[in-house]
This record gives sequence, structure tokens and C-alpha cells, in this order.
Amino acid sequence: NQVSIGVDVGGTKIAVGVLYGEELRDFHTQPTPESGWPAVLDALAGQVRLMQQRHPQARAVGVGIPGPISQDRRRVKFAPNIYGFTDVPLVEGLYERLGVHVSLENDAKAAALAEATLGAARGSQSSVYVTVSTGIGSGIVIGGRLWRGQHGIAGELGHVVSVPGAAVSGAGQSGTLEAVASGTAIARDASFALNRDVTTAEAFALAQAGDRIAGRVVRGAMYRIGLALADLQKMLDPEVFVIGGGVAGVGPYFFEHVQAAADEGAEGFAAVQIRPAQLGAQAGVIGAAVSAQLEPTPVR
Ligand code: BGC
Repeated sequence: NQVSIGVDVGGTKIAVGVLYGEELRDFHTQPTPESGWPAVLDALAGQVRLMQQRHPQARAVGVGIPGPISQDRRRVKFAPNIYGFTDVPLVEGLYERLGVHVSLENDAKAAALAEATLGAARGSQSSVYVTVSTGIGSGIVIGGRLWRGQHGIAGELGHVVSVPGAAVSGAGQSGTLEAVASGTAIARDASFALNRDVTTAEAFALAQAGDRIAGRVVRGAMYRIGLALADLQKMLDPEVFVIGGGVAGVGPYFFEHVQAAADEGAEGFAAVQIRPAQLGAQAGVIGAAVSAQLEPTPVR
């Protein structure tokens, strides 16, 4: 039974845990430092050191980051939703701090691998995992392995254009899926339309309670996500889609609307199989640990 440490870095919190076989232990979080990437690496090193002390059996260490990483999986290109997280030498930076080789993975790719091996896509030949949260990302798993692409960016679904000319995302591009349908976009658009500050969860609650303005905002987002899945069905034709992330956590209301839009978009081509993620809020940490075991960053 393998024991690995998983770390998932988000815009607001760093989540950590230790995976024993299929069981995650010692899951906890701390706020993400806001003073730039060296401080984030210091915090990561501190967490890893603590976990190594508490779990000396742990071997591999995996770190998941919400942004595209280099093809050699040693650097983070940028993280659109974390301030100042650009061109970060993460593997070297943690080696300097810890004397340990860590494995670097994109957060959505890590969760995709975890859902494919331990979660909702277990047993499928091909799957695409989509996370809808602060940002939108995805991971493509074919025959049990991640498809990374030529430059390591395969699956950057959030940055595919959905509504040309619409709002701008944290990556600076306009009308991308993340700019119009992420949790960030839903909160922004609902707040604007309702003339008061609402969170994404509040926008969904209002919509489900019959508020017409909130309803239009959240349905618009779900429609665009569903159409993006239909496009992916035509491009990749995976056996199953798994959707996770905070926004998908809304539950059946979210899945019904996304499924309807996906069916509309892929009508006449194929049925689109969509399942909710199974690993929940811990998917990122489990994913980072699984990826460090199954597809580690090569040691140089
Ligand atoms: C990033 C992806 C990431 C996704 C979810 C996007 O903004 O570009 O790499 O997977 O957010 O965190």
C-alpha cells in the first residue's frame, strides 16, 4: 500500500492530506499567502515538512496548481486566479527548501487522474474531468493515462472562447468559458444584475427559489458549460465526463441543466454521459497524491 502526500494550491487556501491506498488522512487547509510566490512556496514547504514528520511512511509528494505548467512539469507557467503566480520554478524551489523531489501537476489534471482511478470514471477507457470553480479547467484521461499535449496545456477548457467579445478572465482573454461561466463569473454577473453583492452559492439558491434575474444568470452559465461538453464530445468522444468543483457541488439542478445543454449541442452525434465527481472537496489533494504515484515529475 502506497502512502503519498498531496497538496492542492488554490487562490484562497492550500489543502493538504496523506493518501494511504484509497484513504485520505490528516486533511486540513491553511490560507494561501498573498504576498507572492516565494511566500506560497515557503507555506508549501512547511506543510510538506509537517506531513513528513507525522507520516514517516509517506514517499511521494505531489503538488497541484490551478494553472498551466511547463511540458517538463517543473515550472508553473501562470495561475490566472492567484496574484503574482507567474513563471514559478516550483520543483526547484521546493527542492531548495526541503531537499525533496516533489511532483508538479495541474489541479484539474490531478483530479482527472484521481476520478479515473478511484472515483466516478473508474473502469472507463476514456474520460474528461471538468472542474467548475473559481476557474474552469479539465483533464483528459485515455487508457488510464493523462493526455498532456505537445506543450503540456491540453485540457485548458476555461480558456476556450465561448462568447466572443464578452467579459475578460484572469488570463486576460475575453469571452472565454471561464470568463463567462465560472463561479467567479456567476457571482460577478448575478451581483451586477441584482444590484447587490451575491456569492455564487447565493445566486444558485435564488435561482432555484424562482428569482428570474438570478435564474437567467446561472442558466446562461450552465448552458455554456453544457455546449462546451458537446464540443468536447465531438472532438474527443470520451466515454464519460465527470464534473467537480464548487459550482458542480450545487447538485442535481446544475447537472440537469448542463446535461440538457450538452444533449442539445451533441444531438444527432452521440449521447453525452455526465457524472458528478465522487471525490468531492478532497479531489485536488487526492489527485496530487495519486499523480505523484502514477505519473510523477521525472527526477533530473
Ligand atoms: C486554469 C487551469 C485550472 C483551472 C481550475 C484555470 O484558470 O487555467 O489550469 O485547472 O483554472 O483551477
